[in-house]
Amino acid sequence: MTASATPHLLLDGIDEPGLNTLPVYARRGGYEVMKDALRRPQDGIVEELKQSGLRGRGGAGFPLGMKASFIPAGDIDKYLVCNADESEPGTFKDREIMQKCPHRLIEGMIIAAYTVGANKAFIFIRGEYMHQADVLEAAVEEAKAAGYLGNDILGSGFNLDLWVHRGAGAYICGEETGLLDSLEGKRGNPRLKPPFPANQGLYQGPTLINNVETLSTIPVILGMGGEEYAKLGVERSSGTKLISVSGHVQRPGNYEIELGMKARDIIEGLAGGTTPGHRVKFWFPGGSSSPVLLEDDLDLTYDFDTMAKAGSMLGSGAIIVCDDTTSPVDVALKLATFYRHESCGKCTPCREGTNWTLRMLERVEAGLATPMDLDRIESVQNQIMGNCLCVLGDAMAMPVSSLVKKFRGEFEEHLEKKRASEDFMLGFDPAAGGHVDTPIRVVA
Ligand code: SF4
Repeated sequence: MTASATPHLLLDGIDEPGLNTLPVYARRGGYEVMKDALRRPQDGIVEELKQSGLRGRGGAGFPLGMKASFIPAGDIDKYLVCNADESEPGTFKDREIMQKCPHRLIEGMIIAAYTVGANKAFIFIRGEYMHQADVLEAAVEEAKAAGYLGNDILGSGFNLDLWVHRGAGAYICGEETGLLDSLEGKRGNPRLKPPFPANQGLYQGPTLINNVETLSTIPVILGMGGEEYAKLGVERSSGTKLISVSGHVQRPGNYEIELGMKARDIIEGLAGGTTPGHRVKFWFPGGSSSPVLLEDDLDLTYDFDTMAKAGSMLGSGAIIVCDDTTSPVDVALKLATFYRHESCGKCTPCREGTNWTLRMLERVEAGLATPMDLDRIESVQNQIMGNCLCVLGDAMAMPVSSLVKKFRGEFEEHLEKKRASEDFMLGFDPAAGGHVDTPIRVVA
């Protein structure tokens, strides 16, 4: 599968001027799928979503059709929530969809809400996306004026109100239950699961929650047919996927690929590879929380199962490339700094583990650690993984652990170099019985 063979479904015409407005979106066939969907039985739509094989594009990769089928039937208050809190470092694809084609998201949300019987919908958008929130709000007003939102949409008897809710800038509100708490006006803390949002979500009501890319894909699937959509991609990873490529590549940006494409064709083909004279040292296949892969892994196919078999994950589809000038020690330290800052503190393995990891990595960076401390760092990561209330603890532990494991020699070399350096010797204080236990800063 090559770049040129990739069909563009979500990025088709994305740069057309005015696509963010209803007249241009409608001229391109927008909202026609929704009009048709409102005349169809809901269970038929769920079946079609199941046939498409679409796995959620937010990170967890849970099949959309199955998730929709979990929402109980009956005359109770149900909700649809769009997770637009795109805050995983390296991920910036949802931003482009919301900014350039907000009506496709709204169309997808109307269909999803109709399918599960939700009459209230929210787009929870990260606080930093101020321009995108403005664009979405304008699009929602246009949709209301056209009769696509509100009561008795196009005479179907279906009612839907939709609000754009701006987050306050916390990474943890990208976790679905933290997001729901925040939407309810509380501190954005993840909830213990079960119960899952499909049974008890927003205001304790059944809630379908999906991200921007997933919901935007619904009109595409119904427009071409679930079976047809499933022919794209590979087994258990159907369809196309938006990926954000960043880091040491010559053409960073968002690309739409057919799942199953070789990682090398993405990084070296679409994104232009590293600058001449450099090579890929390691890469994150699914955002900063995914375990790193190496140059040798570039010939793997980019899909959910292959990435998992390789010991990493496809996650949100954010590929971050690090070339041979990158220090794994620096990267591990930056990751720990970020995730420690974003930990909500609700559970011990994450609250304490991110803190301990950061302190140990600071000692490594300063040359104050020993190789035994590297074992300790790995041990702490093992105690974090799988023991946290939500995925944030693992989001730090997985990449840090993979960096220490795969670049152990470089970590040790870093320690040796630091200990042999003049800066390090300046920190030696025989009166204190050895080294002062803080990073040494030498003022020139
Ligand atoms: Fe909070 Fe971290 Fe526990 Fe998640 S894993 S609940 S962010 S302390």
